[in-house]
Amino acid sequence: MSNVLIFGPPGVGKGTQADLISKKYKLTHLSSGDLLRAELKHGRHKVKIKELLDAGKLVPDDMITEMIEKAVVQGLKKGGFLFDGYPRTLKQARSLDKFLKSKKVKLDAVINLKLSEKDAEKRILKRGQTSGRSDDNKKIIKARFGIYRTQTVPLLEYYKKQKKIINIDGRPAVIDVFAKIVEDLHEALKS
Ligand code: AMP
Repeated sequence: MSNVLIFGPPGVGKGTQADLISKKYKLTHLSSGDLLRAELKHGRHKVKIKELLDAGKLVPDDMITEMIEKAVVQGLKKGGFLFDGYPRTLKQARSLDKFLKSKKVKLDAVINLKLSEKDAEKRILKRGQTSGRSDDNKKIIKARFGIYRTQTVPLLEYYKKQKKIINIDGRPAVIDVFAKIVEDLHEALKS
């Protein structure tokens, strides 16, 4: 059983690759953004979550951590997880490590999908034409990138120290990026 995290800036294609990887490796795809968007329809904190998502800001660590832990507990019997969008801060990363340890599992690999902000912005604006996501617009994209740079990028160092990072160029076509991920993940999970 393996647990994998997919990491990268907004718009790099994390969700698309996460879908493909989770199918191939039979992992439960755990997307924090999807969990939060589902919460907007019926959840306890829907007003607060909507305000933060619309502004491109992060929801509080404790709130998302509680949601993720609940989902992990529910899915644990089925096998491993593909974490997508969580952890996004150092506090979340430390908390996830501790939580997984308490369940006697661990994160095995971190896929770092790389794309320049310029290319990522182009992709998000294109996605915004069909996604219906209120945060897929130019002003909010800037805020999301700012948060990514200051709060999320430090995680790379954290996972680098754990020797878990797999760097992947996010520029090629979806299918080519996926092929490279499979190739490198295969190696990483073997060792
Ligand atoms: P995503 O679908 O991953 O781009 O996430 C959409 C939005 O959900 C983000 O801009 C944040 O407002 C919120 N969000 C998703 N994951 C997290 C997280 N791990 N911690 C805090 N906020 C999050």
